[in-house]
Formats: sequence, structure tokens, C-alpha cells
Amino acid sequence: MCYEDFYRRSIDEPEAFWAEQAKAIHWHKAPARILDYSNPPFRKWFCGGETNLCYNAVDRHLDERGDQIALVVVSTETDTTREISYRELHREVNTFAAVLKSMGVDRGDRVVIYMPNMAEAVFAMLACARLGAVHSVVFGGFASHNLALRIDDAKPKLLICADAGMRGGKVIAYKPLVDAACDEAQSPPPHVLVVSRGLDPQCTLIEGRDVDFATMRSQHEGELVDVQWLESNEPSYLLYTSGTTGKPKGVQRDVGGYAVALALSMWSIYDVRAGQVMFSTSDVGWAVGHSYNVYGPLIAGATSVLYEGLPTSPDPGIWWSICERYGVRTMFSSPTGIRVLKKQDASWLKKHDLSKLQWLFLAGEPLDEPTAHWITDGIGKTVIDNYWQTETGWPVLALMPGLDMKPVKFGSPGLPTPGYKLRVIDDGTGEDVAPGKKGVLVIEPPLPPGCLTTIWNDDARFLSSYFSHFKPLVYSSLDWAIRDEDGYTFILGRTDDVINVAGHRLGTREIEESCATCPSVAEAAVIGVHDELKGQVPVVFATLKQAGHDETPAQAAAHMRQQVVEQLGAVARPARVYVVNALPKTRSGKLLRRSLQALAESRDPGDLSTLDDPGALDEVRRALERGP
Ligand code: ATP
Ligand code: MG
Repeated sequence: MCYEDFYRRSIDEPEAFWAEQAKAIHWHKAPARILDYSNPPFRKWFCGGETNLCYNAVDRHLDERGDQIALVVVSTETDTTREISYRELHREVNTFAAVLKSMGVDRGDRVVIYMPNMAEAVFAMLACARLGAVHSVVFGGFASHNLALRIDDAKPKLLICADAGMRGGKVIAYKPLVDAACDEAQSPPPHVLVVSRGLDPQCTLIEGRDVDFATMRSQHEGELVDVQWLESNEPSYLLYTSGTTGKPKGVQRDVGGYAVALALSMWSIYDVRAGQVMFSTSDVGWAVGHSYNVYGPLIAGATSVLYEGLPTSPDPGIWWSICERYGVRTMFSSPTGIRVLKKQDASWLKKHDLSKLQWLFLAGEPLDEPTAHWITDGIGKTVIDNYWQTETGWPVLALMPGLDMKPVKFGSPGLPTPGYKLRVIDDGTGEDVAPGKKGVLVIEPPLPPGCLTTIWNDDARFLSSYFSHFKPLVYSSLDWAIRDEDGYTFILGRTDDVINVAGHRLGTREIEESCATCPSVAEAAVIGVHDELKGQVPVVFATLKQAGHDETPAQAAAHMRQQVVEQLGAVARPARVYVVNALPKTRSGKLLRRSLQALAESRDPGDLSTLDDPGALDEVRRALERGP
């Protein structure tokens, strides 16, 4: 089928369209009503339908593909690989669910999961889903304060953690962080279930509160636990946004709509069907990890590859060696991940047999054209930029290889995916802007299946964060966009990242992209800094590639200025360019422009709870003291 017809139908006849898509999953009880939109902007999909994410991801495949590998977990940190068939997955998830049940976890209870990319993290998520408990996975790299905030928001009955994670060969003990978080939290969980990997010999259990998973597992091994059939709109999980623009929001997801949207996206967008292999480099703690390391591939009956480790260790070819070894068809990563590889020699991209690999999808941040070209040429595969948010749970903009794919336009994540009625509107008037003109990307409600149902325990924040900006009611993505004559959408950056130079509004993305066209530049971050005369001026922070060029930092800075002036005009000329060794990012790999801006304006850098490497901020502080 062609993309246009498919998409058109999803917009013109949404209920008929989604009723058809709903057939892709198992319903214990069929939905009585496809859409209830009686209380805008809240909406309910597949009302009265009863289903279960775990059943769809695991049980449903046992007859046809019980011996097929469901999950591969490769860790270059612990030097281990686990290949788990659907049958084994069923067994492990049931055992895990039996353990949770014995600890009193029940339908609707929240369970915080604080673990790295390891098989038990997936078992724990699916076990919660099986019981109808609401999981809230907190990225294992977050410090105790972040964890405490999320505990207090979710008020969990149980916290499941690993004894430790590893990064770059270094053991990071999790248990002390859990203990500190439980001390700090107002409503700490009554019990903590500790999955020991034997990484932290100092790991101690607190009597009466902590429980050792291995002991529990041996007591419950082989038990079967009934699936809880949930009404389609009951909560399945909570997941926090990355916190790039401020305090993270607790996105609440439903059951049926999410399963249906994922099933659709797996074949139509990611081109992965039962028996095929998908490798997403995400952490299970992010939206991509939830949708495309765990639920999406498993609902589709595919094989999902989960990776714990750096993209450069043991060598920068590790991702491609995994692709070769498991015959990966679709790979999913982020522009940030590719930029890490870009600092290394491009020959690493050529060392492995990638004949099975069809597509590389990248999401999470703007994919600048130089990086897109570098990786496309390097691996000789189609690279597909796709745009979405934690809130949406699956792509909003993409190209769809499952539906005779439209051509790639570098710099654009492509066209709206089914069910997303998108508009680009003027931020003042709320009117649609003409093709080629910049505006805010908004979604006409009702939001399609898969998107958030609300912010956990905070309907008011749901309304004020997304629906309060324009009248009549639309969901604001809070991202700038341009749509061209062919309907391709280009994302220009966040609405709060715009730079206003003497009345000219410049997107951070355009200037960053221009800087990145210098062959020596690995990554550039551009911010607007207060200026007496012009209001704001662009200031650049950039990292350089480690090999493959001979520019000094000063030469690179001059080169960037020259590129920007040539490509965007003198108005966009960076007032200062700082070459640094690292840029501040969130743990999910997004540039923290707001913190850069605060430091450059000698202000407090704000909420740093999601900052990845504090060293990167020190680096920026030193660069500012030194001067450009
Ligand atoms: P917070 O909402 O807490 O500030 P966040 O927006 O970074 O954090 P995520 O949901 O992880 O949290 O990120 C979604 C955002 O990432 C999008 O709104 C957009 O700004 C950016 N993004 C994602 N994919 C793309 C893409 N393909 N191109 C450009 N930008 C993208
Ligand atoms: Mg956001």
C-alpha cells in the first residue's frame, strides 16, 4: 500500500483505521468503542477492550515461535551474552511475576525499576505488565536525588534494583544510591528487591526491607502467574521526559492504544516483522528503550537486541559487529551516538558484514546533515531520521519503509506517521504558516493511540504543559518546524531555544548545522547570550574530532565563524566560539543548552538533575574564564 492512502485514511476515518490496526494484537475482550473523546483533550482509545502487554509480548508467541530468540543481551561491560528464547522469556517473566506477587504487588501498584541494560530489567518490566502493576523505570545512571524525586511522584509499593551497573569498565554501585534515595524520599517503598550481578561485593541488604532476588527466584522458579486482563485505558507505565527544558514530566501510558500503535509502527515504520532482528542502542530507561527494546519488537514476535556498554569499547566497531553476529535488519540509535563514532576513524564502519542490515533509524535530537552524510556513506545503508517525544511513545515524523518509502531528504525526519494530524502554526496568531515558513509544530487532538494519556497524578500539568498555548485546543510539541512544499517537516529546535539577534529570530539548529559542516568539528552547541546592543548574540561551544583533520582550535573557531556567515549571513555570526573537550548533555544524550546559556550569562545553571557528566560543565566554566 502507498503511504499517502494509508496516512489519509488514518486522518479521514480514524475510528475505522484504528479498529483495523487493533486486530494486530490479542484482545481478551474486544473494545466496545474505538474512541471516546467526550472530555477533550483527554481521550480514550479502544474503550472496554481488555488486553495485556505481557501476553501480547510473550505468551502469544509461544505456539509459533517458542524456540526463536526473543531477547539478546550483549554486555561488553561484563563480557557476557545471553540469548533468551520466547519460551525461556515466558518462564523467567512468570517466575519474576510470582516473586512480585509474593511480595504483595498487585494490579495498579507502582513499581520503580532502577537497573542497567540487563535481562532482568526486561523480565521485571514484563512481570509488572503481567500483573497489571505500573512500572516506572528510572535510568540506572541517575543519582539518588533523581531517584528520590521519582519515588515520591510514583509512591511505589516496591523498588527493584541491581547491585551495580558498569560504565567504561568501572563498577557503579547502585544499592548505596537506592539507600540514599529511600532516605531522602517522603514515601519510600516498603521493600527493595535486589538483583545481584555479583559486581559489588560491598552490597548489603537492610534487614526487613531488602530482599535478595536470587533467593526468591529459587523459591518461585517455574511457577505460572495468570495474566491480569486490563481495560485498554488503565495505566501500563510511567516514564519521565529527559528534562532538557526543565523539571521532567511523568508521562503516563495506557495499555491497548500503546500496544496497537507499537504493532503498527513495527512493520510500517521500522520494517521489522516476526522472526526478524531489531537492535536499538538505547537504554531501557528511555522512551526508545521501552518502545523499541522491549514492547515493540516483542509484540511483533521479533528478536530484540539489548546492549550494555560504550559504543567505542572494546573498539568503535562494536555496534556493527553485533549487527553482523545477529543478522540485524533494523538498527535504531541516536545522532549523539553517531557523533561519538564520528570522532573515531571512519574505517571502523567498514570492518563488518552488514549485508542483512537494511535501515539505520536515528532519533532523539536533530540529525545534522554532515552527520547524516557521514554515516550514510560510511555504512552504505539508508539512514532514517525520525522525530518523536517521550510523550508520544512512537514516531510522529518518519519515513515508512513498510509502505513503499518516500525518498530521504537530508535534514528532515520526513512525513507524518499514521494518526498524527500535524500543523505548523504561527506562535503569535495560531494560524497555519505557509510552506517554508517557521512555526510551532502542533498535533491536532485527539492524540492518536500510543501517546500519553496524562501526566501521572497531574492532569493540570498535562493541560498546562501541552494544551494551554493556543486556541482552539492543540497539543504543542514545543518544537519549531518548517514544512516544505512536499510536506517534509524540518525540526529547527525547541521553542525556548530561539536566539533573537536585533529582532532576527534564529534557530539554534541552523547555526549548529552550519558549524558542523567544518570537517574538524564533531559537535556544536549554539546558544543566545544577552547582549546590550543586539538583545542576544549567538555563542558557540564545539568539540573537535580526534582524528582526520589538522586544524588547531583557533583555526576551527575561525572556520566555524566563516561557515556561519557564508551560509546564514552576517546576522548569525557567532560572537564567540569556544572549543571544549565535552559538551553538557542530559543522560539521554541531549544538549543542555539552557545550562550553557546560564553559565555564559553568569547565572545559576538551574536544574542539573539529569546532567550526564558534571565535568563537561566545569570544562565550559574554564573555557568561559579563559575566553574564546
Ligand atoms: P523535556 O521535555 O523534559 O525538556 P526532552 O524534550 O529532551 O525533555 P524527550 O522526550 O526525550 O525529552 O525528547 C523529545 C525532544 O527531542 C523533542 O521534542 C525534540 O526537541 C527532540 N527530538 C527528538 N527527535 C528528534 C529529531 N529526529 N529531530 C529533531 N529533534 C528531535
Ligand atoms: Mg520535551
